[in-house]
Amino acid sequence: MKMNRIVVALMAVASVYPATSQTMIPSGHVDIGVLYESGVWDLHVHKEVPEPEEEFGPSDAVFVVGAKAQQAGGVPNSASATAFFGPAGSPLWILPKSQDPELPFLGIGAEEMSADDWNGSLTLTMTEVRGPGDVFVWDVGAFGDLQPKMSSRDGFSAGDALTVEAGGHAHYFWAFSAPGDYEVFLSAQGDHKVDGSVQSEPAGYRFQVVPEPGVGTLVLAGLVCLGGFRRRFSGRSVLGGATAVGPCVRRSL
Ligand SMILES: [Zn+2]
Repeated sequence: MKMNRIVVALMAVASVYPATSQTMIPSGHVDIGVLYESGVWDLHVHKEVPEPEEEFGPSDAVFVVGAKAQQAGGVPNSASATAFFGPAGSPLWILPKSQDPELPFLGIGAEEMSADDWNGSLTLTMTEVRGPGDVFVWDVGAFGDLQPKMSSRDGFSAGDALTVEAGGHAHYFWAFSAPGDYEVFLSAQGDHKVDGSVQSEPAGYRFQVVPEPGVGTLVLAGLVCLGGFRRRFSGRSVLGGATAVGPCVRRSL
């Protein structure tokens, strides 16, 4: 009888706090999925590798930008780099466009749509960033030239956008200027052949930039894990929960 009451109580907790079940993604091939189907936008996270493939709501997964991402020497001392990222030597954590086994290989996936349904390309626009630093997305041209795509450093405009081909799939460089938790809001737009011009609500994607842990950090991480455990069950802070889980995950690896 007593056991039944405990089970019922646990089930009640689970149903009240479903949003705390965030999945940390520290590596593997993962895409920001862009889909428009039957008049409804579906911006999500599509984890391709490791298998099994899984999909998550934007806020149900956290891309973990591990210590390997920290750029030695910070922002390079070149005119194009400093114009985009800020002063030379400023810290920078980079998710590369090429695959690194210790980092998420993050792309934009629109394979679930057909180019036949659209007039031209779609766009994915960065509309807001919540976090301790700035967020940058760029590509590199055939001659190694930096091609800025999106940046929170100079505010937000229609120019902070990626071109997305319906039916296509592409990868870019992502970078962050400080460790901590970020929420990056992206909105998709396109000219649909039947529905006309359609635009999604901004979807908040979560990133956690993890600094290189020193001994003191590891001790602190242990404390944070305990705190995070309590917070998760109090259900007060979704982002706080994610913050706490990161160091716990790192320690168990
Ligand atoms: Zn991809």
